Amino acid sequence: MIEFNTNYVMTINGESVATPKTQPTFNPATKQVIAQVPDCSEEQLDSTVTAARQAFGPWSARPAEERQQLVAKLGDLLEQHAEEFIALLTLEQGKPRAGAEWEIGGSALWLKEIATQTLPEEIVEETDERKVVTRFTPLGVVGAIVPWNFPMLLSIWKIAPALKAGCTVVLKPSPYTPLCNLKFVELAQKILPPGVLSCVSGGNDLGRWMTEHPDINKIAFTGSTETGRHVARSAAKTIKRVTLELGGNDPAIVMPDVDAKAVAPELFWAAFQNNAQFCNATKRLYIHESVYDEVRDALVEFINNEVKVGDGADADTTLGPIQNSMQYEKVQNYFADCQSNGYSFAVGGEIDTSKPGWFVPVTLVDNPPEDSRIVQEEPFGPILPLLKWSDEEDVISRANDTIYGLGASVWGKDLDAVQRIGSQLEAGTVWLNEVHQYSPHQAFGGHKQSGLGCENSLHGLMEYTNWQTTTLNKKAGQAS
Ligand code: NAD
Repeated sequence: MIEFNTNYVMTINGESVATPKTQPTFNPATKQVIAQVPDCSEEQLDSTVTAARQAFGPWSARPAEERQQLVAKLGDLLEQHAEEFIALLTLEQGKPRAGAEWEIGGSALWLKEIATQTLPEEIVEETDERKVVTRFTPLGVVGAIVPWNFPMLLSIWKIAPALKAGCTVVLKPSPYTPLCNLKFVELAQKILPPGVLSCVSGGNDLGRWMTEHPDINKIAFTGSTETGRHVARSAAKTIKRVTLELGGNDPAIVMPDVDAKAVAPELFWAAFQNNAQFCNATKRLYIHESVYDEVRDALVEFINNEVKVGDGADADTTLGPIQNSMQYEKVQNYFADCQSNGYSFAVGGEIDTSKPGWFVPVTLVDNPPEDSRIVQEEPFGPILPLLKWSDEEDVISRANDTIYGLGASVWGKDLDAVQRIGSQLEAGTVWLNEVHQYSPHQAFGGHKQSGLGCENSLHGLMEYTNWQTTTLNKKAGQAS
């Protein structure tokens, strides 16, 4: 494998740009600094947006087929450098190889598939007298702001449809995981004209400057609900379009007829994929009381026998560290809250702070109260409350009793019952007897305070466009 050079630069108007001030990036498995990255100034952001604005006219005027080919080529580029990106993603994010492979492979797939999507003009009326057509025109300059849990995939979910629709993009990675994003955009300049795709790195202020920038037309944002509120507030000043993909507190409902041993690995991955740093992780597991003990014990057995927490770079690691010190402290706080309230742990429960990285043991909290913080809030770390239910109506109401509405799942052999319950859950994605299935052609988004708008599918593509309706009176001005 040829490793990327360790010079991380911003890309502005097709040029590599460094800054006098830099910020460190850490390996979460060791807490060691692995790279210094540029810290963008407000003036540099201005020149990035100006270049994106200048590039917008020619880029949007290109035939859609040409944009399709170039976006698909970005997918080829990722595939050509897959090994370097997988290693870099593990290094900066902490996830083990299987997760990094899924994310880089998925990013390439998304680029190629979204490249094929088109929004046909809608002929609303076509008569001898009139023609009325609605078409979809690109919005302009898009500011893409992404978090640290899936830094590549979530940036591609924005870059691919924006470029395909004819917009230009300024990408801002999370300050915790900028490396893959900076490298990808640097390499993408071999394929795209200058200014079409730029990348600037910096802190949270840089995100705020983007949301306030008068010449950015849309903010495509993934992150916490708290930050989403800031984004919506500051976008309001210039009536910017926004897509907000925010936090979640996904329930999973386990029916009385499950086979405990068979379902346990599925439920484990539903909750702990990406070390539970996943918007769509199962964060509340409602198990029917008749199988509660069996399912809990099968989960504990699976965790004890099959799961190794460690450095993502080690081949036998199942789950990596928490990605950063801020999140590690938040997760520690949930452990402390459970301990001080005397909740029982079925497994885990104690964080060993002497470890070299931000490691947390996989933890199951055994039937804590419904109003506890671990049930009501989003811990975004590997600590999962198991809860008992007996009455169908009651469990549906508990599952829906949240400000969030991102995802949900139901598990059981009686498919009528599974579908009946699933249809009453308030969430953007409801998985039945499966979980974490995504597709470039499947709309993804949150209900309630989990988001606004959606990504993926033609609905997601449409969010990078304005509707424009043209009406033609064919008879006007003609002799009768
Ligand atoms: P975050 O909200 O702290 O940060 C997200 C991004 O916003 C970062 O790039 C950050 O620098 C930037 N930012 C921070 N303050 C800003 C401001 N005032 N204006 C503009 N940008 C600003 O989120 P995080 O901790 O990086 O990610 C974890 C959260 O993201 C969790 O709540 C998780 O559920 C959510 N998430 C949601 C989805 C989804 O698709 N719904 C996917 C992944 C993660």
